[in-house]
Amino acid sequence: MLDVAIIGGGPAGLTAGLYATRGGLKKVTMFERGMPGGQIMNSSEIENYPGVPTVMSGMDMMASWPEQCSRFGLIHEMITIEKIVRFVSWTK
Ligand SMILES: Cc1cc2nc3c(=O)[nH]c(=O)nc-3n(C[C@H](O)[C@H](O)[C@H](O)COP(=O)(O)OP(=O)(O)OC[C@H]3O[C@@H](n4cnc5c(N)ncnc54)[C@H](O)[C@@H]3O)c2cc1C
Repeated sequence: MLDVAIIGGGPAGLTAGLYATRGGLKKVTMFERGMPGGQIMNSSEIENYPGVPTVMSGMDMMASWPEQCSRFGLIHEMITIEKIVRFVSWTK
């Protein structure tokens, strides 16, 4: 069983993955149906990201995020999540 399952590999999913793995959780998988990076990959010019004074494309901005996450152990599975089922454990 996974410690954390993340659906979506945009900035939010990658950030969750980074914090979870860096925080010490071992089995963390991010389920992303396509290339990690999310919608911001469609932006040709980003100029509002704090701490990044140079204008860059979303593709360039996101390029290093997956690599940084995988360095801490985040697994990316390229799959579309179709359904989520709530698991109820009866053990105490
Ligand atoms: C054209 C455009 C330009 C933009 N420009 C800027 C900008 O200049 N500056 C700025 O700050 N913000 C910009 N934004 C906004 C920015 O893209 C979003 O704020 C940001 O992407 C939100 O990140 P997120 O991770 O929450 O969601 P998303 O980026 O939407 O990521 C969600 C991810 O989940 C995946 N996913 C969804 N459902 C499933 C499923 N069922 N199974 C598997 N994977 C799934 C998707 O493929 C996607 O990769 C722009 C957005 C667009 C569309």
